[in-house]
This record gives sequence, structure tokens and C-alpha cells, in this order.
Amino acid sequence: SDAIDAMVQAYEQDIGPMNGTRVVVRAWLDVSYKERLLENGSKAIDEMGFGGAEGSEIVVLENTAMVHNMVVCTLCSCYPWPVLGLPPAWYKAAAYRSRAVIEPRSVLREFGLELPDSVEVLVWDSSADVRYTVLPERPEGTDGWSESQLLEIVTRDSMIGVAKVKSPTADG
Ligand code: FE
Repeated sequence: SDAIDAMVQAYEQDIGPMNGTRVVVRAWLDVSYKERLLENGSKAIDEMGFGGAEGSEIVVLENTAMVHNMVVCTLCSCYPWPVLGLPPAWYKAAAYRSRAVIEPRSVLREFGLELPDSVEVLVWDSSADVRYTVLPERPEGTDGWSESQLLEIVTRDSMIGVAKVKSPTADG
């Protein structure tokens, strides 16, 4: 069972979200791709060669300094497999599914993300028809970074919207 746990973890944390990471970095570097991605997520994701099960209708939400989007599936565990792989255990947990919509700021705080009141928090409920994923904000201090440098800082949690991509110049 240790081997299976390790494999599930790899799909949750590494192999799965790698595709999403590539989509995010391309959007950061290529303005016209970003426009296409926000206009029609599934189509722009398909452009990168990612698609298939649980990915026919993916909507990408842009996080900015003013708006923070986070994603949940209140009913079960709908999740955009082609970009994020398998959902983590907490995403499927009843506590996350119910609390994300009732008290999103408290949930975010527990993930270590404290947002000022001036930032609007929007919670999106994924379903079998539409699955959401987040385009996190490109952090300060990454001007001039190469694609491979940027790929290393994008996290799965930032694409679910329970974290930001940390600035390399911020401590912690
Ligand atoms: Fe679901």
C-alpha cells in the first residue's frame, strides 16, 4: 500500500499538475494565448495538447490583485483532470466542500493565505458539465525569468485557488 500511496501522491502533486503549470506559464509569457485561455479554456488547453477525460468544458479564472477565485466541487469531486491530474484528498473531503462556500476566507487562512478585505473572493462550484481552474497571478520579482524558472514556482494549490504563487523575493 505504500507503493500505491506514493503513486497516487505523484499523480496528485507532480505528474498531474505539470500540464496545468505549463498552461499557466504560457499564459504569463504570451498575452494572446492568455486571451484565448480566458475566452475558451478547453480550446486553449487543447492547443497545448492536453485534453481527454474530465476536461471537455474547462473554464479558466484569472486571479488579480483585486479578485481571488477559488474552486470547489460542493457535490462530489469534479476536477479538471487534463490540467491538474487527480484531486487531492482534501478537495474531496466534506469539510472543504461545504466550508469553501460558507467561509472561504477562513478556509484560505487555514491554507496559509490571508487576503485583505479589499480583495473580492469568488468561489466557483465545479460540476460534471463545467470544471474550473485558476490562472494565478504572476508574482513580483520574476521579470525576465525563463520559462523553466517560472515552471518551477507554479503550484497545484495556486491553480485550485487556495494559494498564491509565492514571490521569490518575499520571505517564507
Ligand atoms: Fe463533483
